[in-house]
Amino acid sequence: MTTNKSKQLFEKAKKFIPGGVNSPVRAFKAVGGDPIFIEKAEGAYIYDVDGNQYIEAINSWGPMLLGHNHPLVREAVIKAMENGTSFGAPTGLEVEIAELITKMVPSVEKVRMVNSGTEATMSAVRLARGYTGREKFLKFEGNYHGHGDSFLIAAGSGAITMGNPNSPGVTKGTAKDTLLAPFNDLEKVKEVVAANKGEIAAIILEPVAGNMGCVLPEPGFLQGLRKICDEESIVLIFDEVMTGFRLSPGGAQQLMDVIPDLTTMGKIIGGGMPVGAYGGKAEIMDFVSPSGPVYQAGTLSGNPIAMAAGLTMLKYLNENPSVYTQLSKTGDTLVNGLKEILNRLGLPYTINNLGSMYTLFFTDQKVKNFADAQTCDTGLFGKYFRGMLDKGIYLAPSQYESLFLSTALEQTHLDQILDANEQTLKSL
Ligand SMILES: *Cc1c(COP(=O)(O)O)cnc(C)c1O
Repeated sequence: MTTNKSKQLFEKAKKFIPGGVNSPVRAFKAVGGDPIFIEKAEGAYIYDVDGNQYIEAINSWGPMLLGHNHPLVREAVIKAMENGTSFGAPTGLEVEIAELITKMVPSVEKVRMVNSGTEATMSAVRLARGYTGREKFLKFEGNYHGHGDSFLIAAGSGAITMGNPNSPGVTKGTAKDTLLAPFNDLEKVKEVVAANKGEIAAIILEPVAGNMGCVLPEPGFLQGLRKICDEESIVLIFDEVMTGFRLSPGGAQQLMDVIPDLTTMGKIIGGGMPVGAYGGKAEIMDFVSPSGPVYQAGTLSGNPIAMAAGLTMLKYLNENPSVYTQLSKTGDTLVNGLKEILNRLGLPYTINNLGSMYTLFFTDQKVKNFADAQTCDTGLFGKYFRGMLDKGIYLAPSQYESLFLSTALEQTHLDQILDANEQTLKSL
């Protein structure tokens, strides 16, 4: 397998783009080696500029739930383009997708479209602050909510400790309003809430975490957060940018039967176009401008091409619930196969999974929070990643990610993925 063209492109890219990429993880820094540059993708496969073919297990970080370049979405985009690419004025498509989202996602009575998951979470927290008149919010260590300033806060030494910015450029003033707790630790949440009584606008979390690897909520964790938020009049925000339309038609909230006040969405919602959204109770959403005082806007928000892609995707998912049985079956087949291989090879690693999300953690510890995830041997993961890539399997280039399976994966692909796993894990 040669990757000369990718190498040349990366060298040139580094001259003109910081680090050669438009989103950091794409540079493969966490796994070593140079990134591959993509030419095209179709169904279960992605192809690099050197003509190599890979089986897809990451699917553009989630959006391509139905596999790449799905004909229905492609045709909807082409058709929409014939009418023009942007109007900056309302369209019927936006009404249709908003109605469908409220039908699919249990917590959502009204919804506002934005252009990315980052915009969705930033706007949702602003809205929660405007609605409650409070300034602080609580997030969980290892949860990712996009790159908004107030979310880029590292873990403090204790839950009540104020966060410190973990990126230069985030001011201490911003960081002081972000409170932290370990995922799955209700007691710590209670402590933080008690120590900041009447000051917390929102608790935001990934209901099933994917950004520290796949980490499931312990039984009672989501319910416990719901109860705390009810008692303290705190807005509960589920960041379902990753889990929305993936774990079920109504996301993690529908699967786990815990209904947040606000929900943020992204990734699958755009069918591969840059789309995000936030929605929730009408009473809260009516605080958004122009019906309310909380300002939020976007020149390209609700863009007709993006809405055509998203609407086609969501309609398909809404009308074909068998997608979710298929995805779960695919996930279970892979995870069971992988567990069998690990057992046979005597490797003690941990797998967390739900539906079409899973992570193989290179640690023998159970992974319930970020501290557990950090016990992983990331060097070994890097070797594993490169071994899999060499065998034509495209995984997420970091230990702290979930894989996102698609309906395009058939049994032959799963066999190939398991085969590559066996060979690679043996050789580490
Ligand atoms: C990807 C992601 C985001 C950020 O979305 P972008 O579209 O990359 O800005 C936010 N929250 C979660 C849970 C995500 O997985």
